[in-house]
Amino acid sequence: MSSNTLQQFLTTNLNDLKEKGLYNTIDSLESANGPIIKIDGRELINLSSNNYLGLATDERLKEAATKAITDFGVGAGAVRTINGTLKLHDELEEKLAEFKHTEAAIAYQSGFNCNMAAISAVMDKNDAILSDELNHASIIDGCRLSKAKIIRVKHSDMDDLRQKAKEATESGLYNKVMVITDGVFSMDGDIAKLPEIVQIAEEFDLITYVDDAHGSGVLGNGAGTVKHFGLSDKVDFQIGTLSKAIGVVGGYVAGKKDLIDWLKVRSRPFLFSTSLTPADIAASIKAVEVLSNSTELQEKLWANGDYLKKGLKELGFDIGESETPITPCIIGDEVKTQEFSKRLNEEGVYAKSIVFPTVPQGTGRVRNMPTAAHTKEMLDKTIAIYQKVGKEMNII
Ligand SMILES: *Cc1c(COP(=O)(O)O)cnc(C)c1O
Repeated sequence: MSSNTLQQFLTTNLNDLKEKGLYNTIDSLESANGPIIKIDGRELINLSSNNYLGLATDERLKEAATKAITDFGVGAGAVRTINGTLKLHDELEEKLAEFKHTEAAIAYQSGFNCNMAAISAVMDKNDAILSDELNHASIIDGCRLSKAKIIRVKHSDMDDLRQKAKEATESGLYNKVMVITDGVFSMDGDIAKLPEIVQIAEEFDLITYVDDAHGSGVLGNGAGTVKHFGLSDKVDFQIGTLSKAIGVVGGYVAGKKDLIDWLKVRSRPFLFSTSLTPADIAASIKAVEVLSNSTELQEKLWANGDYLKKGLKELGFDIGESETPITPCIIGDEVKTQEFSKRLNEEGVYAKSIVFPTVPQGTGRVRNMPTAAHTKEMLDKTIAIYQKVGKEMNII
């Protein structure tokens, strides 16, 4: 017998979402997640993945993953501290530390998990966290889990950060104060003001935490936002994900050896959840090797991003203030944004609409994520479809 209370809760709330047009149905891909995807038998130009460098379908990574399965099987068999640490895990962590220019690194099962793990291993109820208001959901949840006081900071507002850092440190209420930010903000494509953040952190002895999920593989010759600004030895926690530019799945923290040693004995997803599979690790190691040896894919990514931005801008679209290949196309009205995305889809472009509450009300946008794997032909076709739909809907 199932619970009536639960059923009532689900029916009420699902209906409520559906009535408000907020219920999200999920498309199933019938193909690999590449620059062209197949949904319901239709081929679409894919501008919605985080597969920035096209590595999710790279032959070199596939080969490495296949070999790892042959040699090590499909699962790690246990949590890392029991006997689930394979040589491959150690190798990946050494490669990541080298890649990030830090003393050490620790791998987790996802970027989301990383934030659950790392924040609460260091921060507790006697501490405070200064958190940018546009930080990713996993940062917010990680902060909540730690039970530290969360102090919201206006987005990339350095005066607000300095003021709140001063108040928090001078109040005497907290043992430790951390400042935490995305490296690249995924909705607008803007970059965190890390030089100023680090300066404020030094002034008030704040712990610095940068989640560079969208910056790694994209900025700083691939090493990310922190490297981009030359701050590798000034940021305490560098979080990265293996699921975006790296093209696989997993997450990591890179930092000082003492920090990583502490996370290995105190972070709960590391201690109580089985580790990454051999195939994931081997493919990730290969990806880091590819990125360390050549900047070809990053250059292609940026060239494609610039090309798409230029094309959309020339047509008269509002593409915001992105500083990275992330290309929002701001429509404004929520309903119109959703209709725009639907029409693009019908014409052959898969670009998702992003509306309130993910972004502020009235700033609904279709977000384009060009990758290194897109061809000029695909981007030209995209721009032509944008022109057609934009004119049809009186947006341009
Ligand atoms: C995507 C993202 C994550 C989650 O990474 P996964 O590896 O997909 O779990 C964490 N933080 C930020 C800032 C992200 O953009």
